[in-house]
Amino acid sequence: MGLQIIDRTFLALRSDRVHVDDITWYACSEREWGCNWLVREDAPAGRCISCRLTRTRPASDDTIALEKLAKTEEAKRRLMLQIADVGLPVVPWDVEPGGLGFDLLSSRSEGRPVVIGHANGIITIDLAESLDDVREAVRVKLGEPYRTILGHLRHEIGHYFQNVLITDETTWARCRDLFGDERESYRDAIDRHYSVGAPADWQSAFISEYATMHAWEDFAETFAHYLHIVGTLQTSAAIGIRLDAGASTLRDTDVVPREDYHDEPIGRVLADWAAMSQGFNRVNRSMGFGDLYPFTISPPVQRKLGFIHELITRAPLTTQQQIDLALASRDDERA
Ligand SMILES: [Zn+2]
Ligand SMILES: [Zn+2]
Repeated sequence: MGLQIIDRTFLALRSDRVHVDDITWYACSEREWGCNWLVREDAPAGRCISCRLTRTRPASDDTIALEKLAKTEEAKRRLMLQIADVGLPVVPWDVEPGGLGFDLLSSRSEGRPVVIGHANGIITIDLAESLDDVREAVRVKLGEPYRTILGHLRHEIGHYFQNVLITDETTWARCRDLFGDERESYRDAIDRHYSVGAPADWQSAFISEYATMHAWEDFAETFAHYLHIVGTLQTSAAIGIRLDAGASTLRDTDVVPREDYHDEPIGRVLADWAAMSQGFNRVNRSMGFGDLYPFTISPPVQRKLGFIHELITRAPLTTQQQIDLALASRDDERA
């Protein structure tokens, strides 16, 4: 297990602990609120790496908000597991200014709107959106085909990684060619989007209406879709779902999803997803639901996803960074 921060092993606990290879692992101190991750014996903080990234949370006596926190933290653990799987580097907010952190607040408890967003490494989520009626009302009002907490998290972490992964002018120039100029006024973009709306033909070049608002949002929306796609393909592969060629499937080649697309071209990712998402959409309809993936990936969006695939697969997750993370969590004296 060594210095690995996120391991995929399930272990049965006795008295909230388990011994593996002479190391004791303890249940995360947030277990009461549904966290099922473990903490190494030499990490005195008592919180797992996912819970540690939560910078702000509801007050300890606000049990109504804490119940919503539990649901949001579950989505966040799924996100963090995927971030580790795709091999992206994470530096926590308490290790470095601009590092990744989460402010998880409920607009219901605060008595004021909580704006979902990202600023300088910190992702803010309104916990009230974990309530189905609240989230669904917003989704209908904004005319969105899809709105989930996991989707919010994947979008916001896209903002974080855009600045982490693009570090030279050549790559920024390529990014601007695809997504537009992020230096344009964000305030003007918001005003335009909420007064005029998306252009009529937005589907020809964007993954969502929201992506048309500003270059930052186009990148974050597309990044979220990259995570939707490889995450769902990964789960499909883990379950063993595949599509066989044959007359009844209208397919002349087998489709076998992979758990890891790191060494595959984006074309393979998108071809697998086109086939699998069509299948999943049919499964959903057979239960009377809407499409699992209610989006169309046009050629310009394919190119944007290809750029993100390239950024992610060449990201410098070094062993040293993993070591620093492990040491940092060991040094963390706050309970
Ligand atoms: Zn935890
Ligand atoms: Zn955004």
